[in-house]
Amino acid sequence: MNFADSEVVASVLSSQYQLVTSPSEADLILVNTCSVRDNAEQRVFNRLNELTALKKKNKHLQIGLIGCMASRFKDDLFAKTDIDLIAGPDAYRNLPQIIDSENAVNIDVTLSKTETYEDILPIRYADNKVSAFVSVMRGCNNFCAYCVVPYTRGRERSRASESIIAETEQLFQTGYREVTLLGQNVNSYNYQNIDFAELMEKVAKIDPLLRVRFATSHPKDLSPKLLQIMAKYPNICKSIHLPAQSGSTAILQRMNRKYTRENYLEKISLIRQYLPQCGLSTDLIAGFCTETETDHLQTLSLMKEVAYDYAFTFKYSPREGTFAYQNIKDDVPEDVKIKRLQQIIDLQQNLSLKSNQKDVGKIFEVLTEGYSKRSKDFLFGRTSTNKVVVFPALNHKIGEYVVLKITNCSAATLFGEESAF
Ligand code: SAH
Ligand code: SF4
Repeated sequence: MNFADSEVVASVLSSQYQLVTSPSEADLILVNTCSVRDNAEQRVFNRLNELTALKKKNKHLQIGLIGCMASRFKDDLFAKTDIDLIAGPDAYRNLPQIIDSENAVNIDVTLSKTETYEDILPIRYADNKVSAFVSVMRGCNNFCAYCVVPYTRGRERSRASESIIAETEQLFQTGYREVTLLGQNVNSYNYQNIDFAELMEKVAKIDPLLRVRFATSHPKDLSPKLLQIMAKYPNICKSIHLPAQSGSTAILQRMNRKYTRENYLEKISLIRQYLPQCGLSTDLIAGFCTETETDHLQTLSLMKEVAYDYAFTFKYSPREGTFAYQNIKDDVPEDVKIKRLQQIIDLQQNLSLKSNQKDVGKIFEVLTEGYSKRSKDFLFGRTSTNKVVVFPALNHKIGEYVVLKITNCSAATLFGEESAF
């Protein structure tokens, strides 16, 4: 999400500033921040210390903090670090005024009920010219008990479908072959009665050669209608990120996730019914308040039952202002949180390896994204199910579809060679 937002920021500033490749060349450095966990914030403070030291060499250098930490700390940040300006996630349009050093107002952290930046064409500065993020909504209304996002990014709002389509068409025309539609809970997208499934269909129809992905789906809102649309269009990737957070109904209730373990598993069966080969990934939190060993075992058993291909795993980090922070004791000791997280990571490593082993011998169409880090003789791309495949580059190019037979794998990567379908 921040990656996509930074591309909007680059666009807002493009008439006054030129992008450079290293901090030492810059007259303006904006650090786009995440508040979801404490260690993300600590990393930002460390980074700001490094960056503000550059002011000694460049007297014109201005440093700004943008994103969720701006919403959370507001002007306290001026006392904590030597920064010049602060802009929250809905204030990027005002950045030119905030940056203007003649201007006394160097902070804007107002949250908006309507801002979607829909008329701003992001500047795609990443090296990857094949796959792009397209933001379709902002904010979140779910208020999961542990999560700071509804407070830092404000209320949910959907971007006009015409502007999403126009941006995606332009991406396709300039050579992009994949878009990921982004939102905190894409399933609640609603713009003038166009829901997320209908939006996906419109994007999928742009061109069969354009792959479409999305993130993230809240399990409570994943609809059969969306699954039907996914099944109907081969260019909609068969991969769903469905954050479970926990496998224990008691913990899910305390987290205010609005589904039980059983409801979650029903959604998984529904996915398997419509999309038998669909890739599945999740987010899991270890050691949420009141989590017992039995609750934790339930998470491990859920992981085995679903057999996720991939999981993003986190240790519970109490966030000031959230319901859990104010009302439920953070009573799982740190060493227990660490131990449970490690068990989750180890199990997922195993499940990822097993899932990859099942793909050995199979044939996949892969969209090539770049050269392998290890050698220019190899390219890498992803399957529709969101697995990375490394294969001999031969005459293939980045942005090309290649049909591969999987010959080998590790837990993180598939290895393939060219094949006929
Ligand atoms: N909107 C997305 C998640 C956005 S935050 C969704 O609901 O799926 C990404 C992930 O960070 C969450 O899914 C959760 O697993 C994790 N997370 C959020 N708050 C956290 C906290 N306080 N401590 C640990 N992990 C947290
Ligand atoms: Fe946070 Fe829950 Fe909203 Fe995701 S759905 S951003 S976890 S409050």
